[in-house]
Order: sequence, then C-alpha cells, then structure tokens
Amino acid sequence: MSIIQKTGFDFSFDSCECEGCPGYCCCGKSGNIWVSQNEILQISSFLQINIIDYIGTYLNRIGNRFSIKERLAEQGLECVFFEPQKQACCGKLQHSKKQCSIYPVRPFQCRQYPFWEHFKEHKDQVIKECPGIIAKK
Ligand code: SF4
Ligand code: SF4
Repeated sequence: MSIIQKTGFDFSFDSCECEGCPGYCCCGKSGNIWVSQNEILQISSFLQINIIDYIGTYLNRIGNRFSIKERLAEQGLECVFFEPQKQACCGKLQHSKKQCSIYPVRPFQCRQYPFWEHFKEHKDQVIKECPGIIAKK
C-alpha cells in the first residue's frame, strides 16, 4: 500500500488503486483541466509540436485561461490526452488500458488529484469518483 495523507483533508489516498482503475479522474463528467502558461510550454515541448498548433488542437480558451479539451467517450467525456497505451507484444502492436499520454508533464491540477480544495468540503464526491480514497472515520 502507498497511502498519501495531506493536512486539512478528511481522507487519505491509496495510489496503488490506480493500477486496477480505468481512470475515473480523467473521464466521466465534464470539467475544466486548467493549464498554466508554463505548462503549455512544457506540454508542447513534450509533444514536439509548436505552441500555436498545440493551443489550437488541444486547448479551449475560457476567459483568460486555457483548459484541455475533452471528447465524447463510452463513459461520457474524457480528456483528449487520455489514450490507450501502445505496447509491442510478440512482434505485434497491442493497445493496453487508457492512460495519460502526457503523464510526465501533466498539469498541476492533475498532479494534485484527489487533494483538491473543492474536495475538502465535498468529500462525498471524491469518495464516489476515486476508488483510492480512504475516508477517515
Ligand atoms: S480515479 Fe483515483 S484510483 Fe482511479 S486513476 Fe484516478 S486517482 Fe487513481
Ligand atoms: S492531462 Fe492526463 S492526468 Fe490530466 S486529465 Fe488529461 S489524461 Fe488525465
């Protein structure tokens, strides 16, 4: 078990649960996935595409901020970077379960999950969404 606790949160998180989870934090209901200017630079560099193409293809402008686009999926909506990972097996290319395709440079918001300020007051929501949550009694 790999239990993470953070001050001010009425729950802890077992990151081992991510292994068997289909990735409920990257799909389901619509939500904003905010990216800062630095993160935009980091992600476009990671993807090796120019920043203008990256913004046009992957981001929505909302006011003076940018959020990663979502697309329709079986389970509702999903982040456009939530993709099946390709693996070579016996000389053939196979697709494994969906994962974050920009994991090393994923936005701060994603790195902080499930310890979002919002969930301090709405613990029930994160308990419902994330199988790794361990509610304190
Ligand atoms: S929903 Fe929770 S358990 Fe599932 S991948 Fe996201 S953080 Fe991990
Ligand atoms: S950027 Fe990665 S971790 Fe964040 S919502 Fe999209 S797929 Fe999930």
